[in-house]
Amino acid sequence: MGAAGEIAIDPKVSSFIAQKHRLLIDGQWVEAVSGKTFPTYNPATGEVLAHVPEGSKEDIDRAVAAARRAFEEGPWRKLTPSERGRLLWKLADLVEDHAEEFAELESLDNGKPVAVARVADVPMAIDLLRYMAGWATKIEGSTIDLSIPGEQYLAYTRREPVGVVGQIIPWNFPLLMAAWKLGPALATGCTVVLKPAEQTPLSALRLGELICEAGFPKGVVNIVTGFGEPAGAALAAHPDVDKVAFTGSTEVGKLIVQAAAGNLKKVSLELGGKSPNIVFQDADPELSIPGAANAIFFNHGQCCCAGSRLYVEHKLFDRVVEGVAEEAKKIKLGPGMDPTTEMGPLVSDEQQSKVLGYLESGLVEGAKAVVGGRRWGERGYFVEPTVLVNTRSEMKVMREEIFGPVVCAVPFKDIDEVGQAANDSIYGLAAAVWTRDVSKAHKVAHALKAGTVWINCYNVFDAALPFGGYKQSGWGREMGREVLELYTQVKAVVARL
Ligand code: ADP
Repeated sequence: MGAAGEIAIDPKVSSFIAQKHRLLIDGQWVEAVSGKTFPTYNPATGEVLAHVPEGSKEDIDRAVAAARRAFEEGPWRKLTPSERGRLLWKLADLVEDHAEEFAELESLDNGKPVAVARVADVPMAIDLLRYMAGWATKIEGSTIDLSIPGEQYLAYTRREPVGVVGQIIPWNFPLLMAAWKLGPALATGCTVVLKPAEQTPLSALRLGELICEAGFPKGVVNIVTGFGEPAGAALAAHPDVDKVAFTGSTEVGKLIVQAAAGNLKKVSLELGGKSPNIVFQDADPELSIPGAANAIFFNHGQCCCAGSRLYVEHKLFDRVVEGVAEEAKKIKLGPGMDPTTEMGPLVSDEQQSKVLGYLESGLVEGAKAVVGGRRWGERGYFVEPTVLVNTRSEMKVMREEIFGPVVCAVPFKDIDEVGQAANDSIYGLAAAVWTRDVSKAHKVAHALKAGTVWINCYNVFDAALPFGGYKQSGWGREMGREVLELYTQVKAVVARL
């Protein structure tokens, strides 16, 4: 495995990484009040990539005050919807102009293959910004006929921006998650304090530069890098924040809800998953086998919707397990910046230890690794793509979110058994079903308690498709027209005529 340093990095990316990083507050690039910084690492090597400011409560206070001023007093409120839409579109164009830089930054900071960032993270972020730019001019209320006798009224509703929004995002798709959050907030006229994940702050900071270049008024978007505690927690608890939008673990999601209770700010949550991927024996193995492998191994399993429980009808079980194991063996591991790499390292040593801990617990409890099961390589945070069999429903590896390239394969007898097993989880983010029987596919899709169900496909995302969780996988929906409801509130206006 070559060192990441041996792989050509765009000089613009190197110079961005090497520059002094600051927080974006009120249109200015400033140091943290404390003057402290913290390192972000290249997960392929474990080496420090850059130092970024360690934001604290004081920085969050400054950022929230700037976002409040921008919301109440600044030019932002006076912009027409069309002008807001144009700014978002301009931002999308700028990201597109710098697409290669973003792909490399994501690869260096997060570990993912640059080839994947080029075709997934970056274009999807651009698409989302453009899709949301379109919504800026289509936010509407309605007129309502009242049934009150004797008087005549004109009653109508307005959809107004919710106000100052705190957005806390994870490290698995750093730029894309920033776009998912910023797009609808800006389309609806909110102002934002964004806190990127401490493991992957760089692409959000670069995006901040482009936000300034696009011409968003000062204070509309503020970016504070820092840790969950204290920066994220201060944002979630802040009494002058009207809404908090969070993507991350279910555990932290519960803390966000508690923190938000102080001023009853609106909360939306996109949390963990343990998504069932169901293969019936009439499914086309040519599709379902690579499909099941992609469902778990895409982004190294670091997806909240990863297909981590693979249920296969018993007659096809051996073939699918062997097939997925073969796919796993073919995956080329290496540093994300190597253009031939198909799977990079996990994001951090902590994440690597967590995944290895799950593997150990599964193996101790009697599971068997058909392929993988160990750390890969001498340095960097790699884990082998792994297929576990002989699992039981009560095992930790079957119940908890591993967030790594580990799938548990389980045979099933019939549709009733698999329906029950699939829904036997605290999570309900996504699910998939593979079959040639159209009627069965839709019956199962309706029975699954999940916010997304894929039929004969997996990981199909689109800016127009709502995404979010049932049960403990979250509150509210990201993307699509549904997300606009999270960033607007309805006012009813009644006039006696
Ligand atoms: P993971 O376990 O996958 O790292 P987390 O849920 O811990 O995911 O982190 C997702 C985001 O939530 C990150 O930006 C992180 O800094 C932030 N975060 C972590 N703990 C808290 C907290 N107590 N309050 C607010 N944000 C937090």
